[in-house]
Parts: sequence; C-alpha cells; structure tokens
Amino acid sequence: MRKPFIAANWKMNKTSQETEEFIRSFVPLVKDITDVDILLAPSFISIESASRLLTSSDVLLGAQNVYHEESGAFTGEIAPDMLLAAGCSHVIIGHSERREYFSETDDVVNKKIKLARSKGLDIILCIGESLEQRESNRTFDVLNGQLSGSLADLSLDGITIAYEPIWAIGTGKTATDEQANETHAFIREWLGKNKKNADSVRIQYGGSVKPENIEGLMSQSEIDGALVGGASLKPDSFAKIVTGASGK
Ligand code: PEP
Repeated sequence: MRKPFIAANWKMNKTSQETEEFIRSFVPLVKDITDVDILLAPSFISIESASRLLTSSDVLLGAQNVYHEESGAFTGEIAPDMLLAAGCSHVIIGHSERREYFSETDDVVNKKIKLARSKGLDIILCIGESLEQRESNRTFDVLNGQLSGSLADLSLDGITIAYEPIWAIGTGKTATDEQANETHAFIREWLGKNKKNADSVRIQYGGSVKPENIEGLMSQSEIDGALVGGASLKPDSFAKIVTGASGK
C-alpha cells in the first residue's frame, strides 16, 4: 500500500512574502487530510521562511535542486547540509528544466542523489521523454537510460520517481490516464528487475496536473501521486488537487 504523494514545484516563482501568504491560506485547507503526503518546493530563498511557518504542520518541505559537493568554492550552489539545516526533508533532482537549460546529465543527477541520500535527504527523481522521442517510439529506451544512469549504484530507499513527459509540462496537454499508467507500469517493471523493494516506491505523474484531472490519474493502479507546477501556485487549486488524491 503506497500513500499518495502530492508535491508542488514552484520553480522560479514567489518571493518569501508570497510563499508565506500561500502557506497561511493553504495549510488550513488541507489540515484534515491525513492520507496524502503533501510537499512544497519553493525557491531556495523562501525555504527558511516556509520552514518556520510549517513547523506545526504535516506539510513537507523540499528544494528544487541541490549541488553534488559538500562545501567549498562552488559559487552560487547550495549543499545538502544547507537544505537540511533550513528545514528540508526532500529535494527534487533531475527536473527536465535542469536537464535542458543547465545541461544536467544522468551522471550529474546520480552524483546529486548519492550525496543528498548520504546526508539523509529524500529524493524526487524526475524522468521523462520529449515529444520527438515519444513520436519516434523511443519513450521506453529513454526512460531506461535515465533510470540506469540516475540510479546507478543506489538503492531505492528514500526515492520517489516523478514521471514527467516533457511535452506535457506547462503545455496544458496531459498524458491520458492510460498512457501515464502504461509508462508508470514500465517504470515499476524496470525497478523490479533492477532493484530491491520496487513495490514500495511511489511513482508520481507530472505534466499539466490540475484539479480537473487528478482524480482520473489517481484512479490508475500505478499512479501514486503528482508533481505539480502551474496548478500548485494558488492555494485553492493545489488544495483541490490534494483533496482529489485523498481516498485512494
Ligand atoms: C513540472 O514542471 O514539474 C510540472 C509538472 O509543471 P506543470 O504542472 O506546470 O505542467
């Protein structure tokens, strides 16, 4: 039995003040929902203020990225210990925007996961294919490469996978419930063949998730939650998504 897990990736949105305003409105809306794990991933600069406001709440806090070295001369980067000290339990690694705009390879993703896990952070590992890769029937090859590279020499402890088809991110196009479930089933099979305890790993779907489509997605056997961008920026919209995932 996998507990549904709904995470908000705010990307480069919201000042600290806007983060606080969101949390003050959002937390009361979800306070009675205990059967869903909920996570907010604000920008680095808002993490500490978010953490202060979330101390008496079950809502989890995560970062959107982390560096793969412990400390030192890496201007502009943030280390796992800094995230832990600021109140994060999780970090998103390998988002397609990091891969595309910041040249993150599976090898870098693997290094980041290794260091972050060794420090005790839980991971949301993002994988997913482009439209061109899907249309040329290369989806499973691409996912196979991303999973083998990103998870090399790692166990599945503390890992959630977010399957995010790039063509569905921020485009309003969602994979159909069946398309998403089929791909999640492939990922679960891959995990089962290559790692221990694959059944306990949660696989989130990401890509234009909104209040209107969460229930259909969650009704699928292999979909354990969602990583949500645009529709997580407003408290009522994100609360509706969390509510839609409750009861699975
Ligand atoms: C994301 O970038 O992780 C994402 C899923 O974005 P959106 O929900 O806006 O498609």
